[in-house]
Amino acid sequence: METRRILLVEDESQTRSVVEAYLEREGYWVSSVGDGRAALEAFGAHRFDAVILDLNLPMVSGEDVCRRIRDVSDVPIIMLTAKGAEEERIAGLDLGADDYLVKPFSPRELVARVRALLRRAHTGSEPQRARLEYGPLEIDVAGHKVFLRDREIDLTASEYRLLTTLSRYPGRVYSRMELVEKVLGYDFEGYERAIDSHVKNLRAKLGDDPREPSFIHTVFGVGYRFEPPVESS
Ligand code: CA
Repeated sequence: METRRILLVEDESQTRSVVEAYLEREGYWVSSVGDGRAALEAFGAHRFDAVILDLNLPMVSGEDVCRRIRDVSDVPIIMLTAKGAEEERIAGLDLGADDYLVKPFSPRELVARVRALLRRAHTGSEPQRARLEYGPLEIDVAGHKVFLRDREIDLTASEYRLLTTLSRYPGRVYSRMELVEKVLGYDFEGYERAIDSHVKNLRAKLGDDPREPSFIHTVFGVGYRFEPPVESS
């Protein structure tokens, strides 16, 4: 298998070298940089399979790096944050990151997250049908593409995974915890809010109004379900 290339952006040299060593031991090719500007330069110059991005960075902030990468790419991004407030932690997800870890984290867990993210981005367990159609929404499973009214919409790996998970069984209610497991690939508690954040982003891309949703419905106190729009023809 081709070597996966990881861009590691972290200004604390000790954390950077520990994480780098763990990733390399797993067989990844790692390029590490210590500030936001170098991150954007590296990202522009090479192809990466995943980005590990510290939120607090000199020069260009992690938020800005994330935003700018997302403008041009749907590469999987894991945010590293020292911030304690949940609001701030999930801010990274609102910017389009796929996952986050709060410092101090275990390098082993980070490696597990990277592995899960790459697995989801490249293979993933998906619906058997090659093409799913729900009114104006079309999911080309084989091509990993989503179209809304014939226009392709750009989803991150997690958003795509969330959409295919929910839409596989329209009408079925998924709890947040279940979605954490299916979408993020692990079952740690406390990441339910991450799902809310991914749902929010996905809805925005689908033009879905949470008060009057046409695709993703909130099941109060439980989770979410996908309901295809009623055909008007
Ligand atoms: Ca930092």
